[in-house]
Amino acid sequence: MLDSPDVCWFRRDLRIADQPALVSPDGRPVVALYVLDDRPLATAGWRRRELLARHLDALAEQLRGAGGGLVVLAGDPCDVVPRFAEELAAHTVRWNGDVSGYARRRDATVEDRLTRLGIRSEIHWATYVHAPGTVVARSTGLVQRVFTPFSKAWTQAERSHWPAGPLRLSTPPVDGVDVGAMLGSGSTRDSGEHLLPDGGELAAEQRLRDWLGSVDRYEERRNFPAEDDGTSHLSSDLRFGTLSPRHVLDVVGTDSPGRSAFVRQLAWRDWYAHLLAEEPRLAHHAMKPHFDDVAWRTDPTGFEAWCAGRTGYPIVDAGMRQLTATGWMHNRLRMITASFLVKDLLIDWRLGEAHFRRELIDAEVSQNAGNWQWVAGTGPDAAPYFRIFNPITQARRFDPDGDYVRRWVPELSGLDDKRVHAPWELGPLDLEVAGITLGETYPWPIVDHAEARERTLVAYAAAANGTREDITSPPVR
Ligand SMILES: Cc1cc2nc3c(=O)[nH]c(=O)nc-3n(C[C@H](O)[C@H](O)[C@H](O)COP(=O)(O)OP(=O)(O)OC[C@H]3O[C@@H](n4cnc5c(N)ncnc54)[C@H](O)[C@@H]3O)c2cc1C
Repeated sequence: MLDSPDVCWFRRDLRIADQPALVSPDGRPVVALYVLDDRPLATAGWRRRELLARHLDALAEQLRGAGGGLVVLAGDPCDVVPRFAEELAAHTVRWNGDVSGYARRRDATVEDRLTRLGIRSEIHWATYVHAPGTVVARSTGLVQRVFTPFSKAWTQAERSHWPAGPLRLSTPPVDGVDVGAMLGSGSTRDSGEHLLPDGGELAAEQRLRDWLGSVDRYEERRNFPAEDDGTSHLSSDLRFGTLSPRHVLDVVGTDSPGRSAFVRQLAWRDWYAHLLAEEPRLAHHAMKPHFDDVAWRTDPTGFEAWCAGRTGYPIVDAGMRQLTATGWMHNRLRMITASFLVKDLLIDWRLGEAHFRRELIDAEVSQNAGNWQWVAGTGPDAAPYFRIFNPITQARRFDPDGDYVRRWVPELSGLDDKRVHAPWELGPLDLEVAGITLGETYPWPIVDHAEARERTLVAYAAAANGTREDITSPPVR
């Protein structure tokens, strides 16, 4: 019997199933560890912290049920993980890789320190379907900058193999920290109407099973935010790793157009992770470098109105209010609201990215920055910058009955489907009948879309041509 234990360092893979980091191929007992790290937690809003606390509680319980337990420590993982492994006289520390610049630097330091201590490190990639860096163009060895060929190669790529068990878990050798106290969780903030998902892998598996009842209609319903089950809402489970992406893919399969369309979204997820792993600057810099030179406006009032859902554009406000109320926003609304910030207010996409990163329960650097760059037209395979979403057209197309807007902007609920998306087009009598006073009960639009569009085209063209001029004009209206 080999008694020197291994350590499974849990991070964004909070599950037991399809979890290679928890398996010791040579049958050593495995001690499960999680480290609460202040640095990434500092940019997480209360919902993501609360959800993390729930997932950790559920994971600890599951591990205890399987004969082990979970030690939760706090501090800089670069110190905590090697010290813990050394005190245990561990043989190997295993984890699943992560692609953010911070995670990669941290992991390299941990690996280096473990090596100096004579302890092995073993890294798996069960966070994605394919390990970042493995789906690349044959000709260049680099990740495709266009999604369709990436997705084709991704579909055909062979999966790497990892051990599946059996598990031999060890009880925790030390007491950990009080997770609830550290994360400020269990607060009464989550007692309102919009509850967070239940924690843990078993609850996540149930969510996946529930989704199977709707996935076949995904293709036709996925763009309509009023349909609560039009998309899976599995993003936070994929982000925390309470679901394995391979497992999701296997369970859903591709037997119908809806299922294939859904699986394609998992390829987008892998693509953004592949890109960030190869181009760490994607998190903070335009992938098309000249667009780092767009003369973004400084407009704290506009930014605050956007965050608060008070722009005067009902569809934008509805999306931002859904985000604040639930920590999740429908993909179509993420595109519309992000486009409004960047192209209507001409505010730097990085400010919006940071706001989403704090508020979203599924926030992940690769997905968030990648998608923001897509919307801003600064990223790979993004729509050209001169294609600018019209928020009214988008609203009428994807919320034709106005149900989504009325749900999140109740002060407009007196307006019917045709008119709810542009209340400023109504006459005074109609507004009075609907109980709306623009500028009092609901804001006037903070910007004129047509004028803002022209302003943005000029700013982007100047950046593209190297003739930037700072735009000092105030927002229109
Ligand atoms: C500006 C902006 C910021 C975003 N930030 C994030 C983020 O921080 N984290 C995040 O997980 N997603 C992000 N997305 C992508 C997408 O909006 C969400 O993944 C999706 O809305 C989650 O809802 P769902 O689980 O119901 O998705 P579904 O439609 O059911 O899709 C299934 C899964 O596929 C993946 N997926 C779907 N769309 C995308 C996409 N466009 N890019 C990458 N993966 C995708 C997600 O993992 C999702 O759970 C962002 C999109 C935009 C436009």
